[in-house]
Amino acid sequence: MNCPLCGFEKNIPYIKPYHWRKTQKHFSVVSCESCNHLYTYDAPEEDDIGPYYDSDTYISHTDTKESLFDRVYGLVKQYMLSRKWGWIRAHVPRGTIIDYGAGSGAFVNFLNQLGRETHGYEIAEAGRKTAKENYGVNLFDPSALKSLENKSVACFTMWHVLEHIYDPKTLIETFHDKLKKDGILVIAVPNPESWDAKHYKEHWAAWDVPIHISHFKQNVLIPYIEKLGFSLVDKKGMPFDAFYVGLISNENKYKSKKPFMAFLNGLKSNLSVGKEKNYSSLVYTFKKA
Ligand SMILES: [Zn+2]
Repeated sequence: MNCPLCGFEKNIPYIKPYHWRKTQKHFSVVSCESCNHLYTYDAPEEDDIGPYYDSDTYISHTDTKESLFDRVYGLVKQYMLSRKWGWIRAHVPRGTIIDYGAGSGAFVNFLNQLGRETHGYEIAEAGRKTAKENYGVNLFDPSALKSLENKSVACFTMWHVLEHIYDPKTLIETFHDKLKKDGILVIAVPNPESWDAKHYKEHWAAWDVPIHISHFKQNVLIPYIEKLGFSLVDKKGMPFDAFYVGLISNENKYKSKKPFMAFLNGLKSNLSVGKEKNYSSLVYTFKKA
């Protein structure tokens, strides 16, 4: 595969993580010789990627609130929704918000309950079905994006979505067309330059090959989005991701989650971010230029 950002064909090997969700098959993450972008060179074609998604981890279970686990899970989920909104709310102008890659619709539902008109787009039929069942929320298929009126949207959010996209340029250009003046684009992605990525190496769960096509470094993502007509207005770390990624990475490496070790490594990661803010995951907020 050529570089998904610049189209250049030459690259150098970077790391060989594996498909920990199912097949354990190794894939090659390479560095583009032209723009330095890290991407999964031998990822399947877009039409063949479906089976690599582990449907169990992609359908959130029904919120019955019966067991302690359910209740704790529900609380963490609710807390994360308000964190997400807290990171971006100061930048979001009046008007419609669109969550692109809305999963099972929790964020869409959360914002609607706050009184912010929000719509969601989701490619997975299972996600759309769950959103309908759990929240009565109708998510759209991404093909419906084209029919939105230009300059009509206040904010697009993509929470851990852009790294899955085969053709980021076309998508970002569409967002640019649909955003109104001063509209906002929020992009949350894993950070391959974080302490936990360097520590766990090929076991790092957030490589998540082959379903992650792109692995965005800050100094590649920011200029790329800015070239498409945006300017960066904010960048925040997602400290909880370091703990979660630590648990799954331990499972990959030791066949055991080792919660205490995951906790310590999460702390180490969050304390090693430096002035570049190299958190496990980052939330970038861009404004339409
Ligand atoms: Zn490139």
